[in-house]
Amino acid sequence: MSKIVGIDLGTTNSAVAVVDSGFPIVLADSSGNRITPSVVHFDPESGDVVVGELAKRGRNVAPKTTVYSVKQYMGRRYHECQDDARSVDYDIKASDKGGVEVRLGGQSRSPQHVSAEILKHLKAVAEAGLETEITRAVITVPAYFNDAQRQATIEAGELAGLTVERIINEPTAAALAYGLDKLSDRAKVAVYDFGGGTFDLSILELTEGTFQVLSTNGNTRLGGDDIDQKLFEHLAGWIADEGGPSIIDLSAEARARVRQVAEMAKIQLSKEESFEVLLPFLTPEYSFSGALSRETLEGLAKGVVEGTRAHCRRALEDAKLAAKDLDQVILVGGQSRMPLVRRMVSEWFECAEFEETRGDLRLGEDYHEAEGPTLNVSQHPDEAVALGAAIQGAILTGEFKDVLLLDVTPLSLGIETFGGLMNVIIPRNSTIPVKAGETFTTAVDGQREMLIHLLQGEREKSKDNWSLGRFTLSFEKAPRGVPRVGVQFEIDVNGVLHVLARDIKTGQERLERVQSVVDVDDADVQQMVEESVEHAFDDLAARRWIENRLKAKEILVATQQGVSLCKDELSDEYLEELQSAIAEMSTCLGPDPDQDPDYVGDWQRLKELVKSMDELTADLAELQMQIVMEEMLKQKGLG
Ligand code: ADP
Ligand code: MG
Repeated sequence: MSKIVGIDLGTTNSAVAVVDSGFPIVLADSSGNRITPSVVHFDPESGDVVVGELAKRGRNVAPKTTVYSVKQYMGRRYHECQDDARSVDYDIKASDKGGVEVRLGGQSRSPQHVSAEILKHLKAVAEAGLETEITRAVITVPAYFNDAQRQATIEAGELAGLTVERIINEPTAAALAYGLDKLSDRAKVAVYDFGGGTFDLSILELTEGTFQVLSTNGNTRLGGDDIDQKLFEHLAGWIADEGGPSIIDLSAEARARVRQVAEMAKIQLSKEESFEVLLPFLTPEYSFSGALSRETLEGLAKGVVEGTRAHCRRALEDAKLAAKDLDQVILVGGQSRMPLVRRMVSEWFECAEFEETRGDLRLGEDYHEAEGPTLNVSQHPDEAVALGAAIQGAILTGEFKDVLLLDVTPLSLGIETFGGLMNVIIPRNSTIPVKAGETFTTAVDGQREMLIHLLQGEREKSKDNWSLGRFTLSFEKAPRGVPRVGVQFEIDVNGVLHVLARDIKTGQERLERVQSVVDVDDADVQQMVEESVEHAFDDLAARRWIENRLKAKEILVATQQGVSLCKDELSDEYLEELQSAIAEMSTCLGPDPDQDPDYVGDWQRLKELVKSMDELTADLAELQMQIVMEEMLKQKGLG
């Protein structure tokens, strides 16, 4: 059966996705962009049509023939739009039937026609990416779209040569992309969608595997553009304060550059703390530059973000729910990438934990204790809707059906860490698809690569688990503990494990596709689980032993080095104390693990010895530091 693509036809941006070998992916155009601005430029002379980034850039050059935010007119009456649509630079008029038409020189186009151009572009992107003809699509619309608006969206699809297999709600698509259909029955989620021109909050309930929209509330004239506008005004004031020209005296082209820089700064400040605004030659005599901080942006944006709160409250009221009744809050829409938005939403909904497993990997610090829903931002907010539409498409073609049954991991998955221990990354019985990660470091100075040994099983020691393979990741030489390697595990809907290891410093990475980790023999799984229960006590003792042995080894070596460096300066008494502590610890450590890997000593005793050695060596450490410093000064000729 031919593929069904998923399309997010957004007010500001659009995207197309597909499920490929069990994985939903957003397709990129020939320049590598996965997001296409929903902007269409019509050339009245040649009849040429340009869609996307180029059209967006040309907006200020040809304001009358460049159409954006056309979604707000889809399926609407002209008179309705007069009070609630955003103002635009191009002209619109009433059509014969009372709908809206966009005027383009002597001609006019319906909003469906304009949207069809965007859809044609996305269809071409998908066809180039998949090297096959695409004729079927699932298209998303806001939950508040009425029948006429949905019908207009279907017409746009047909005009673009697509059979619209289904129209689905954007929040539902987002929830599918987040895999929330795997939550327990009657789970409730809030989808907070903050886009370029619009905001909406929808509350969904999962019943027997499908989502019902319990309520939706929003504002079609509140979005990221408003933050851009605030920042634009701030920049205008700043330029004037610096003795630059007043914004109204600038050419249209220069003003457009200020606008562009405002959005660019806003986007960069989601990642960085500060942004260098550069506006060379605003006039032939005047160039502007200045550093803008995230704090300043947040001050400007706060009011706009605050404006979304009342809608959240109303949606909850309409659904007759309190925030604590929700299981998850998910964030959608490019504007929700802003850290301030995440913080404020988390506060309003009294979110319990912050789950971020994408890209930057899950780090322990992101969790804070509280009761309430999980704020889930594990998917790209501006791609989730398209991905969910693609998943819906794959469900329709049957591509997803079989795999939805294999929905949990039968055994834990992890990697081997120091001392031959298993470090679990995805625990047994996690629902799939699932993604999780952790950061690791090195144990030895000057290590240039890390061996990643993939394991499956329930035992504490690596050697008792099943080995799924090994690979190495190389990185720059550095002292132990300095390199940071992120390891991310992802199990797709087919149960295939994909492992991504990345050196966080250089971004160097390796992606390994393992095998199905779900499709394993039941008897083997049972045996593994039984053995883990049977050996639970021994295993735990072994883990504790190994962990404490590593610490003991470290402090022992450091003390031995300290003693040999400082022995002339130490009192006989102190030296004796140190030597006997060294001897005692060496005895407790027992045989070298190379000789007897299964040796397990008394971990509690060892732990006590580590503690007392730590106290005993405080003076030694100080002395050692002094000697090293003096040595350094001497070398510099200052001693
Ligand atoms: P829509 O659903 O309205 O088509 P999107 O979800 O694509 O729109 O959101 C577009 C908005 O998101 C724009 O205002 C854009 O500036 C903003 N945006 C995109 N990326 C970021 C980012 N990293 N930080 C802050 N805002 C962003
Ligand atoms: Mg959107």
